[in-house]
Amino acid sequence: MKEVFPGIFLIKEVRKFLKFIESTNIYVIAGPDGLIYDGGYGTKRLVNSVINEVQKIKELYQYKNERINLTRILPSHSHSDHISGLSKLRKALGVKIMVTKDMANIIMDKQRYAYAYRSDSYRDYFIINSGLKRKLKSYLLSKLSNFFWNLISGISFVKDPDEIIDDNTEILINDETWKIFPSPGHSFDHISLYNEEKGILFTGDNLFKSISGWLGPPESNLDDYMKTLEIYSNLKNLKLILPAHGEPIENPKERINEIILHRENRNKQVFDLINEFREEGITSKQIINKIYTNGRNIIKQIARGWVSLTLKKLEAENHIYRKESKKEIRFFPVNKL
Ligand SMILES: [Zn+2]
Repeated sequence: MKEVFPGIFLIKEVRKFLKFIESTNIYVIAGPDGLIYDGGYGTKRLVNSVINEVQKIKELYQYKNERINLTRILPSHSHSDHISGLSKLRKALGVKIMVTKDMANIIMDKQRYAYAYRSDSYRDYFIINSGLKRKLKSYLLSKLSNFFWNLISGISFVKDPDEIIDDNTEILINDETWKIFPSPGHSFDHISLYNEEKGILFTGDNLFKSISGWLGPPESNLDDYMKTLEIYSNLKNLKLILPAHGEPIENPKERINEIILHRENRNKQVFDLINEFREEGITSKQIINKIYTNGRNIIKQIARGWVSLTLKKLEAENHIYRKESKKEIRFFPVNKL
């Protein structure tokens, strides 16, 4: 653990295997009525690594003769790398699980969770040929990948959260007021936590220091995302961003503007490609291959998310239209952007 701001500690889960899967940042706002922000993964090893680090923070406070009592844990949103550890951390640390109504509905059980994160939504942009064989293959693949992902994340569902809060509210942490506000974009149930006096904002998965972050259907929404970035950028006293992956961001306004610009460039890049192939049209797969000319397959798979959302936005704004045949969907320009 590392003290990233006086009284705020960053714990990075320590992964021995599958190191390519990025660890989640768990933050401890330490003090007499402290809070843990984000629940991380739920495997025994990762949960134990968090418990050990929390113990070190407690020892540090005891050594300094300062009171420490962690009373609650609050996730930024209900993706598995943020909620899987909630139950086990509650049991081990005696904290209450605090969630919004939206999160509570999703993390309640396996069925609701699977429904919220169903992975067939790329079909609207990528595959039109839905022969039985292909349908069966994609069904089995998605079942298999869900199974392994659940195994890797060590997910446990939370039937009985201790406290349901509004997604637009204020809470007291160590007698200081923190604002919670909805920040959909990456996922619809995403919230942010902000303390104006300290100038600290927890952005969850909406904003990172060195990567642009995942966006994709069905959870993400590009318009919501841009609005959330706008809200971040209008915060009066923003000095430090603490994201759910990677390092703290010490130049928050600059980074927010970079990401806004990045998304605008992506919109333009996709539209320009569609415009370039205005005669024959272009499929989403071709768009990805043209953007990531030397990209690895996994990068291209991940990119399907933002490309789908960008196409959705361009269609909704009437900049492009589609022609569907039995085998593919081709996109054509309506007007210049
Ligand atoms: Zn997420």
